[in-house]
Amino acid sequence: MERINQLTAEIERFYAEPGPLNPQLDREAILEALQPFDFAEARPAQDVFETVSQLVRTGTVHITNPRYFGLFNPAPVLPAVIAEGLAAVYNPQMAAWSHAPVANEIEQHTLRFIATKLSLPTEQLACTFTSGGSEANHSAVLVALAHHFPQSLDDGIGSLPKRPCLYVSAMAHNSFDKIAKHVGLGLNALRVVPVNDELQLDMIALKTMLTEDRAAGWVPFMVVGTAGATATGVIDPLPELAQLCQEQSLWFHVDAAWAGAVAISPKLKPILAGIEQADSVTVDAHKWFNLTMGAGMFFTRHAKANQQAFAVRADYMPPSENNVVVPYLTTLQWSRRFIGLKLFMALAEFGESGYAAMIEAQTDLAHYFREQLHQQDWQVVNKTALPVVNFTHSKLTTGNLTADDLLQQLYAQSDTWISTVTINGQKVFRFCVTNFKSTRQDVDYLLGELTRLLY
Ligand SMILES: *Cc1c(COP(=O)(O)O)cnc(C)c1O
Repeated sequence: MERINQLTAEIERFYAEPGPLNPQLDREAILEALQPFDFAEARPAQDVFETVSQLVRTGTVHITNPRYFGLFNPAPVLPAVIAEGLAAVYNPQMAAWSHAPVANEIEQHTLRFIATKLSLPTEQLACTFTSGGSEANHSAVLVALAHHFPQSLDDGIGSLPKRPCLYVSAMAHNSFDKIAKHVGLGLNALRVVPVNDELQLDMIALKTMLTEDRAAGWVPFMVVGTAGATATGVIDPLPELAQLCQEQSLWFHVDAAWAGAVAISPKLKPILAGIEQADSVTVDAHKWFNLTMGAGMFFTRHAKANQQAFAVRADYMPPSENNVVVPYLTTLQWSRRFIGLKLFMALAEFGESGYAAMIEAQTDLAHYFREQLHQQDWQVVNKTALPVVNFTHSKLTTGNLTADDLLQQLYAQSDTWISTVTINGQKVFRFCVTNFKSTRQDVDYLLGELTRLLY
């Protein structure tokens, strides 16, 4: 049991001091460190723990560092780490309700709470924890296909007289490219709608594309609205999309992978207006809810289509009870870990208002950052109430120094992390704060370093 003490000490140390953000380790050094692990002979467990924890600690970009202003990667709150341990110890098999009744009910209880926060109707609701946003989006496309083309479940998409297609904005998450390939629709069936000046999905362009695609023999069946684009934090016009989808009998999916978390804040929730009309919704728990990775959520108001998309017969599985959710019959995964416990425990420990305060503090911090940028002659190029800031400086658009040059210097010289994205053909910086540990001092440090490197 000595190793359990080692693990506890590691957790305590890490929470006290997260470690350097940008480790200067090369791959050769990592491979060399792995050489002794030839697995030929058993090694003392405490040794193994010491070596492995040291390797992971020193060879990782510490996304949990408060000066990491990156890609929604979570700094896990402590209840999430504890929940991971508990889930690992009891290792409930989620696939069949009868094997893990408590775990399954904890998950459904938590999901239904989030569904209520999103103002989704809870009757006819099907919901599940997924590995992440990609799997949730994948589930959405599968259920939408089952709803619109039930015959394709037996005969395949290839049997349909006309090819189905779906619509995303140019700023949508690229998981949809993979999904279009994986579900057999093909990448050409993913119609990419341009964005308007506000970087939102352009409704006029969408309407034109729908008409033209129908005339060309396609069958549009689904439109995705992104609530919080990954690169820009911009929210597509959800109420207009909902109405259009209603009028044209299209499936309306909202990808709120990271920004869906604001549903828990009464102050911020109005920015998601329209999401309550969605046929299906994606929200990640491992982004802005600050939980460990491997935690997405999928919701749909079409329990029947959901059932049809995933149901199978397997006579080796335990018989299922009535009126309970049986995950292997209603979701993409079969054997699955107890993903939802961490959200349940974190919600229980912080309470709804505690979580809301955490999320609001981060949107406030992004507003502070925008003000500082304005005061110091930087330009913000995106408009959003969410904590993603795209910015640049006139020196970068006119001089020899590019945003990427500056970024490389920042990684090499500073203990902070941001990224770049291309918006309207221009490379700009992308700052995002979703870490509950970040403070004004951390933001000031970043801007100080950027300014120092610029001049
Ligand atoms: C991160 C993200 C995804 C993908 O989610 P994963 O959890 O990384 O699979 C999908 N959509 C949006 C808008 C995202 O930001």
